[in-house]
Amino acid sequence: MRFYNTLTRSRDEFTPLDGNTVRIYSCGPTVYSYAHIGNLRTYIFMDLLRRSLRYNGYKLKHVMNITDVGHLTDDADDGEDKMEKASREQKKTPWEIADYYTKVFLEDTAALNIGKPEIIAKATDHIPEMIAFVEGLCEKGYGYETSDGIYYDIGRFPEYGRLSRLKLDELKSGARVEINDEKRHPADFAIWKKAPKEHIMQWESPWGMGYPGWHIECSAMGLKYLGEQFDIHTGGVDHIPIHHENEIAQSEGLCGCIPAVFWMHGEFMLVDGGKMSKSLGNTYTLAQLAERGYSPGDFRYFCLNAHYRQKLNFTFEGMDSAKKSLDNLRKAIVSHKGVENPEGGELVAGFKAEFDEAVSDDLNIPKALGVVWSAARSEIKSKAIYDFIQDCDAVLGLNLDKPPAAEDEVPAADIDPAFDAEIRAAIEARAAAKKAKNYAEADRIRDMLAEKGVTLTDTKEGTVYKLG
Ligand code: AMP
Ligand code: ZN
Repeated sequence: MRFYNTLTRSRDEFTPLDGNTVRIYSCGPTVYSYAHIGNLRTYIFMDLLRRSLRYNGYKLKHVMNITDVGHLTDDADDGEDKMEKASREQKKTPWEIADYYTKVFLEDTAALNIGKPEIIAKATDHIPEMIAFVEGLCEKGYGYETSDGIYYDIGRFPEYGRLSRLKLDELKSGARVEINDEKRHPADFAIWKKAPKEHIMQWESPWGMGYPGWHIECSAMGLKYLGEQFDIHTGGVDHIPIHHENEIAQSEGLCGCIPAVFWMHGEFMLVDGGKMSKSLGNTYTLAQLAERGYSPGDFRYFCLNAHYRQKLNFTFEGMDSAKKSLDNLRKAIVSHKGVENPEGGELVAGFKAEFDEAVSDDLNIPKALGVVWSAARSEIKSKAIYDFIQDCDAVLGLNLDKPPAAEDEVPAADIDPAFDAEIRAAIEARAAAKKAKNYAEADRIRDMLAEKGVTLTDTKEGTVYKLG
């Protein structure tokens, strides 16, 4: 297998450090609110990695943390602890907030067929390990105390910035004006924070009452469960410049090595071409998708259409298309069920080689899905094709053994992807014409589509179409 490694900026051949077991650490959610579909995309990527490694015969020792303390509203050292802020706003204790959102997160990920990591580690269950890590850094001269916490001394680690390819002097000139003038370098970051009296979550430490910094959590839990060096570290691309850079600095300081060999990062999900944000009201949850009639499987299929290193633009039109395609795929698959046909076996060998190659090539799941489509569409119907596709589903996790929806639930008939693309382009041209107040052109496009048997309906989320 080959994976793109953010550390080397190349697709590197993968071999586990230790026999047949792959040790993975994934940065988990901060449980102060519901996970949105962007967050969930990152965990679908994590799951595709798990499934692909298993499909290739590896065993997994996979740790994911739950951040229930210490993640400040700014990923660096500014702002308030997200848990404390949510606790104040929602009038619940941070522990109640953490329990509730952890439960919903685990329900959402289960609904999306995301495999549960072997170890799920809550930050608040590992405070002694974090304190020991900070003590170790101080003993080795990488940590120093200020009036509000213990900081990592970036000046001691000239290679800081290796993952994001940022130079220390660039960080120096780029950094904001710092309020904390006790820091030796503007980019020094807190590994332990001293708690003001009103801070609800706080623990005894050699530096008085306090709480851990977000970055030290992952370093301490990774070290505890996976050792000084493991195979793969995952997260979202936003983790590259601060969180993972800091994790590397901490592990280099204490253990003298980069904690993981491979660093893999999932790209962001956008909504309507832009950023997802609470103020824009476009941070949808899985429950909100369900209210609009989309199943977790529809969303998973939507995500599988884009490579994990590509930005993925979420639109409801895209979700309609994903829902329809998943159902059409199930229809095509079921046509092979129970058909005894010796010709199927030969065909399968070719499809399998292509599928395996796509999966092993930096998780090219869109390509692998295309192979499954080709197999399902095969004119030659065969039980062997059905069985092959079910094997592929060990990677895809789309429940492809489920029957298609009943005829009256299916919004549109089976459609050739080229025709689908043609219709979508016409819909876009019509929207542009409308925007330019060229209603004659908009009507012409609608009539042209009607002649081809395509009926358009304008909804709040955009234009949808039906055949017939
Ligand atoms: P958080 O709960 O904020 O710590 O984030 C959980 C995960 O979601 C992290 O791995 C982030 O990198 C990832 N993430 C945050 N926003 C997005 C987005 N718009 N698209 C994809 N992943 C995201
Ligand atoms: Zn982390």
